[in-house]
Amino acid sequence: MFDRASVVTPGGVNSPVRAFRAVGGTPRFMVSGTGPYLTDADGREYVDLVCSWGPMILGHSHPEVIAAVQEAVSRGTSFGTPGEGEVALAEEIVARIEPVEQVRLVSSGTEATMSAIRLARGFTGRAKVVKFAGCYHGHVDALLAAAGSGLATFGLPDTPGVTGATAGDTVVLPYNDLDAVRAAFAAHPGEIACVITEASPGNMGVVPPAEGFNAGLKELCAADGALYISDEVMTGFRTSKAGWYGIDGVRPDLMTFGKVMGGGFPAAAFGGRADVMAHLAPAGPVYQAGTLSGNPVATAAGLAQLRLLDDAAYAKIDAVSAELRSLVGVAFTKEGVAHTVSSASNMFSVFFTDEPVRNYDDAKKQEAFRFTAFFHSMLEQGVYLPPSAFESWFVSTAHDERAVERIAAALPAAARAASEATA
Ligand code: PLP
Repeated sequence: MFDRASVVTPGGVNSPVRAFRAVGGTPRFMVSGTGPYLTDADGREYVDLVCSWGPMILGHSHPEVIAAVQEAVSRGTSFGTPGEGEVALAEEIVARIEPVEQVRLVSSGTEATMSAIRLARGFTGRAKVVKFAGCYHGHVDALLAAAGSGLATFGLPDTPGVTGATAGDTVVLPYNDLDAVRAAFAAHPGEIACVITEASPGNMGVVPPAEGFNAGLKELCAADGALYISDEVMTGFRTSKAGWYGIDGVRPDLMTFGKVMGGGFPAAAFGGRADVMAHLAPAGPVYQAGTLSGNPVATAAGLAQLRLLDDAAYAKIDAVSAELRSLVGVAFTKEGVAHTVSSASNMFSVFFTDEPVRNYDDAKKQEAFRFTAFFHSMLEQGVYLPPSAFESWFVSTAHDERAVERIAAALPAAARAASEATA
């Protein structure tokens, strides 16, 4: 299948991180998923710790989500008109996340961040955007500078195709460094439209914000008249009922969402202060649109998923995550592998270093070659990890005792492989 794919698709994949370039080997083609398991085209079953890179927070093929999708599909797949499903999904988001007074639905996280930045520029009449090295906000041209994740995996400093003019208004700063942000505001007074940050980064591995960092960003933005945009595409509806906002309580001007809110379908959103959102077409002058925005099948899936995500569901995910973090730490310690299990709520990843990791430069200092050996050992033993040392691992409510036992059984040999690996 990969040979077939490679003939008709660049690199054989439709999104770079799916390829196994960072770890070597051939990507697995999955044919079905049930609960915490994926089955590949050769009939092998894996415990899934990728969960479609975040969205499948209830596990695969959750019966209530599937039923909602089937019901929606039976009524038609797209109307290009307003519909009740998109209103209900917007109401659910507004009800959960207090700073979101109004929301606009789109189809991908990339669209959400791209549109939020356009709106911030339109609202403030300013051009510059501040982002942090190692934070990924989708493949928005202006944000593909030091963007972590896929780019970290491939070691690309930047990408051809993004012109100097497009990236010229982007200021990239080290993460968790408020002094750098202060200096940027001092260097560009009245020019910065917004600071965009992952609410808690998961695209350079998991690197949570230092105490007071997000609050400091908010304060510096407010003092200068810039907007504070919290990208919750990954953390939204995952790290708590109200995402990372539910944890740190720092009130953004705009927020972006994706992944979990689409229930495995292409649905994403941006929203925030009503006075800012009022600048969006057709209410205001900042243009933004989408043929499939608020698609009835995607919104039905997202709504069904969100309605199942109650306090008990988050307690379960948090508990499974804590158990896995502990098992992983014990396995590496036993083999004498220098490591840090870094977590933010139920998101976590392993850095192959025992030095603190506070930003992208720290993350890149890890012994990533150890991850390659670890990854392949886990894969051979039927555990599917993200194929990169710079990605968060994801768990779901479906990761039960049996799934955890299978991971636990695979860890000792994989930790040994990591300890024996050479650069
Ligand atoms: N923002 C963050 C924090 C993300 O993690 C991602 C994707 O991983 C995006 C934006 C882009 O979302 P999408 O892949 O749906 O375009």
